[in-house]
Amino acid sequence: MNKKLRKIINKLKNKGKLSVREYEYLVKNRTEEAAKELKNHAFKIKTAVYGDKIFIRGLIEISNICKNDCYYCGIRHSNKNCGRYRLTAEDILACAEEGYALGFRTFVLQGGEDPYYTDSVLTDIIRKIKEKYPDCAVTLSLGERTYESYKALKAAGADRYLLRHETADKRHYKKLHPKEMTLKNRIACLKNLKKLGFQVGCGFMVGSPKQTERQIAKDLKFIEKFCPDMCGIGPFVPHKDTPFKDFPAGTAELTCYLLSIVRIICPKVLLPATTALGTIDTNGRQEGILSGANVVMPNLSPISVRKKYMLYDNKISTDEEAAENLKMLAERLDKINQKIAIDRGDVKGR
Ligand code: SAH
Repeated sequence: MNKKLRKIINKLKNKGKLSVREYEYLVKNRTEEAAKELKNHAFKIKTAVYGDKIFIRGLIEISNICKNDCYYCGIRHSNKNCGRYRLTAEDILACAEEGYALGFRTFVLQGGEDPYYTDSVLTDIIRKIKEKYPDCAVTLSLGERTYESYKALKAAGADRYLLRHETADKRHYKKLHPKEMTLKNRIACLKNLKKLGFQVGCGFMVGSPKQTERQIAKDLKFIEKFCPDMCGIGPFVPHKDTPFKDFPAGTAELTCYLLSIVRIICPKVLLPATTALGTIDTNGRQEGILSGANVVMPNLSPISVRKKYMLYDNKISTDEEAAENLKMLAERLDKINQKIAIDRGDVKGR
């Protein structure tokens, strides 16, 4: 390993932070040896903080109706080939009931920015879930809303909110989104969520179109400074009905490398081995966990709608990523000496 890379890796391990230029160097000049070292270090940190426990989240994809038109996303407003659906409060409660019996103690309500889900509709759903399952956490992943709206959702009992920043570089953000969407508002939302006391998750796609190593370095700097409770990092995967259909997918190799770096920067972060990582590589999720991830989010949506929540091509939903196949997931995890925790799985030390 060259001297400069050695020095940067030592600094990252000792201080948990680097300059943007150093992050850029670390990404650009990565070697197998460097990746192995960071992976071992990240896994050690994960084990010291969370043991051999892997937290599971039941992911309920409540709607694929979306007013936004993100260029990468399969459920973007302009996609006319997408069969649209939305779940009612009753549908969602039925998912939670099934999930609770299976051992889930966190429910993640994710969806497009669907105007049907007003504050009053959502607060009603959140209250009903919390009333019936007071020992469970409710996580929302429903995009950008106002401070007042987030406040109402928090007051109704929501515990966590996932809102990936997608890219921390303003110019890159413009390349991934139409002009109505701004990085500024995305970041303002993240800050509002934090201020309101949510456990907050940011994150980004790896290998999204036109992404440079410099931009990845900025993502890492943003994560280091924002210090999220959760961080979603998965490869970009093209979807056939989007403007980005001809771009290549991100790689599992770089995704796992970045998972390790994020674990080292934020030792306590709740870090999922994502479905996108499992989609591009059958061993993706295990590799993600061995690289420092400690969360998996099996699909708890009604089976009839799963194929419709196609954010990207070939998104998996029938094997161990399906909530009803938790046993299969447990067996996979057992092979790497990891155990599923029946637990809310809150972030440590908060
Ligand atoms: N509407 C919500 C939820 C979006 S879906 C929101 O705005 O936060 C959750 C995540 O899926 C997105 O944040 C994005 O990072 C990811 N995603 C969307 N399209 C993708 C694609 N083609 N490849 C990989 N990940 C994708």
